[in-house]
Amino acid sequence: MPALAPFPGSTFFHKGQRSPLIAAMGKRLVTEGCGKYRTGPGPEWTDVDQQSYAAWQRKIGFKGAEADGVPGRTSWDRLQVPTTSPVPGGRVASPVPRHSVTTAHRVKGPHWSLGYHTGADYAAPKGTPCVAVLSGSIVREGFDRSFGDFLVLRANGFDYWYCHLSEQTVKGGSVKAGQKIGEVGSTGNSTGPHLHFEKRPAHGGFGSDVTPTW
Ligand SMILES: [Zn+2]
Repeated sequence: MPALAPFPGSTFFHKGQRSPLIAAMGKRLVTEGCGKYRTGPGPEWTDVDQQSYAAWQRKIGFKGAEADGVPGRTSWDRLQVPTTSPVPGGRVASPVPRHSVTTAHRVKGPHWSLGYHTGADYAAPKGTPCVAVLSGSIVREGFDRSFGDFLVLRANGFDYWYCHLSEQTVKGGSVKAGQKIGEVGSTGNSTGPHLHFEKRPAHGGFGSDVTPTW
């Protein structure tokens, strides 16, 4: 089964938006018998996409104003749109798609137990998808008082720690780059929803962190 595209958020869908994800969504709508397209579907968000999506929402039981044709998380997850972005040979831009680093690695501060920040933080609303930055395997999942609910992705000889998750979507086994593996949360020792993303050599303990690149 191909990796599924995480829900990009309702505001992603608006007139003028162009994305391969919209074409991929349209293909799924056609497969589900909800496509109203005369040509296409194409990568640009149009009224026809919205009408087609509304038909999908009605198909899965949404009624009235719920079937407004604007994708929401529930209907999106049910539709199972295959991921379009991290292509083989491509690169995942962020472990939290469309979010960037808000607190950098190695920043110093007394509130960190080693006196510095061992990972890079990506602040984002609770429930924002976290994706595998590389193809590899989930070798650990668990809870830690500091790191909260976490996952460890092992790839290319390194462990990538995803911490403070609200949801661990994939609990083990192999994953593809770009595949959703969890959701941003604020579990463990955390002041607000964010992903603490840490890189260590494979099997490395706390304090063996290296610059979190991939
Ligand atoms: Zn952090």
